[in-house]
Parts: sequence; C-alpha cells; structure tokens
Amino acid sequence: MEKTPQIADTFGRRFPYLRLSLTDICNFRCSYCLPDGYKKTGCESFLSRDEILRLVRAFSGMGVWKIRLTGGEPTIRPDFIEIARDISGIHGIEKLAFTTNGYKLPERAKEYYEAGLSAINISIDSLNPRQFEAITGHDRLAEIMDGMNECFRVGFKTVKINTVLLRGMNDDEIDDFVDFVADKPVSLRFIELMRTGENGDYFSAHHLSGIHVTQRLLERGWSINPRSEGAGPAVEFSHEKSLGTIGLIAPYAKDFCKTCNRLRVSAKGNLHLCLFGEGGYPLRDLLQRDDQCQDLQDKIMNLMNFKKSSHFLHDGDTGATPHLASIGG
Ligand code: SAM
Ligand code: SF4
Repeated sequence: MEKTPQIADTFGRRFPYLRLSLTDICNFRCSYCLPDGYKKTGCESFLSRDEILRLVRAFSGMGVWKIRLTGGEPTIRPDFIEIARDISGIHGIEKLAFTTNGYKLPERAKEYYEAGLSAINISIDSLNPRQFEAITGHDRLAEIMDGMNECFRVGFKTVKINTVLLRGMNDDEIDDFVDFVADKPVSLRFIELMRTGENGDYFSAHHLSGIHVTQRLLERGWSINPRSEGAGPAVEFSHEKSLGTIGLIAPYAKDFCKTCNRLRVSAKGNLHLCLFGEGGYPLRDLLQRDDQCQDLQDKIMNLMNFKKSSHFLHDGDTGATPHLASIGG
C-alpha cells in the first residue's frame, strides 16, 4: 500500500518522490551535459553513507516512498551498493530506482538488484554505435545493451530507457527506437533537451520539440494512455502490437509543472525544489546526528513554502543549474 505523502506545497501538489544525487562526478562526456568531461571543483565532498541514511529516514518519515539515485553517474561511487542496501532497508521506502549511463552494467546488474534496487533507467541516446559514441564519448553501446538484457534476466521490475531528443543527432532514429521496444518489456522515454547554464549554444542547435514524437507515434497508430493518479510529468503512449511503451517528457509543454511530484537533493546535501531553481537550500548541517531528524523535517516542510508554481525555462531562465550532472537529471 502506498502511503499518503505528507510533503505538500502551497499549490496543492504532493511529493512522495525524492531524487537523490550521490555524486557530481561522471565518467561519460555527453555532448549536452558534460561535453568536456567532469571537471574537478576542488571541493568534492559528497554526502557520506551516514548522512544519506539520515536524509532518507527523514524523508521517509514524511511520506516519501520512492527514491531515485542519480548523479553524475551514481554507480561510480565505490559505496554505491552499500548505499542502495541501506536505503532499501529503511521502513517506508517501497521503491528504490536509479538512473545510470549503463557503465559495467552486464557484470553489475545482479548485485544492484540484490542490493534492493528494483527499477532502473538506462540512458541510451542512439541505437547506432558510432552515433552513440559521438554523443556520449564512449564506444559502449553493445555493453549497455547487454546490461539491459541482464536487468531483464536478474528480475528488475521496471526497466526504462532515457533518450534525449537531439535535432540533427538522433531525430532520424525515432522510428528505430519505436521498433526497438516492440518486443521488450521496457518504457522508453524521449526527453526534450533542456537548456542549462552551460549548454545554451548546443540547445539552440539541437533542441527539438517533443511534438515531433507525438505526431510520429499517432501516425503509427499509437495512443495516449490515460494519466494515472500520482503519475509524474511523462505522457505515456502504447500500441497493441508493442510490448514496450513510449513516454514523452516535454518540460517546455504547457502545464508540465502542474504534475510535479518530486524533490531533489544534490550530492552536497542541498534541497532543490525545482530542477531549475536557484542554488538549493543546504540541509547538511542537519544530517550530522540522528537526533536532528525532527529539525530536518521541520526545515524541509518550511522550505516547501518557497516552491514556485513553474520553472521559468520559457523565459530562457535556467536558474543556477550549470548542467544536469550537478543536481541529477
Ligand atoms: N549519469 C546518469 C545517466 O546519464 O543516466 C544519471 C545522471 S543524468 C544527469 C540523468 C538523465 O538526465 C540522463 O538520462 C540524461 O540523458 C539526462 N540529461 C542530462 N542533461 C540533460 C539535458 N540538458 N536535457 C535533458 N536531459 C538531460
Ligand atoms: Fe554523465 Fe549522465 Fe551527464 Fe551523460 S548525462 S555526462 S552520463 S551525468
């Protein structure tokens, strides 16, 4: 049974879902995110296992039941498995998911699953190995595909694929992606490229509206699924002849923010009320001792008053987010 979430904002939205970034560091160089690779800032001090445990316990006590581990690349943390095991053992956490670039997934899928991770989102921006390499800086598409198959084999309940729509780089593959899911129990999500502080020129060159995906799916006989209660902002499509489904995450679409159900905490322990808000609110000082839990919960509840109705991406305002690796996409 899902718990009633207690965290709410002044617009009546409820927040049962936390995205927790474990690290800003990433080993890939996705052209829209970290085109030159991760650059050290000199003050890498990411939340420790103990701090993470206290944070998730506090959120769980306020009705959060779904956690997604993200980054950067969350799996490059040496204690990733231990963190997953800790969180999955916390009372009230019903779903532990993670988003990964799929690095070393074939050999690690089983231990991820056994640590309590039951849902995985794998980022795959092209089905063409050369193009995949051009986008991510890594010739690893075959390995990631093996990893996805291993996830089916070991028993993951949910396998999703994230595909960022990129004009001139993968928009000629929309049909290939749709065909790809036909015989697989996956949900592939096309994500509209988001403008961040550092990718302005790239955004102008490669942003493509999700409308192109919607049109193509409708032409091919796909239909839009009714929105289920509590669902996030993705629009889901299905087809009777396809085992897999397709989702569209279009942050520039009207009303995208109305269904916001998630909060974010960065790897340095800042609460972000929106992917594109300013700065983030530091929580770390309240993660140092177990007896700070109530103060931490009170602080989070108070900060909810500052959550705005919408992002301001339409006005070209990307907030303080340089790239999504810095707060977890
Ligand atoms: N490293 C992991 C990965 O790539 O899956 C997790 C972190 S990554 C920031 C999370 C998701 O955000 C990925 O699916 C990635 O493709 C997506 N992403 C990154 N930058 C983006 C942007 N500017 N617009 C849209 N999606 C973006
Ligand atoms: Fe790394 Fe993920 Fe960003 Fe790619 S999208 S550079 S894999 S954090």
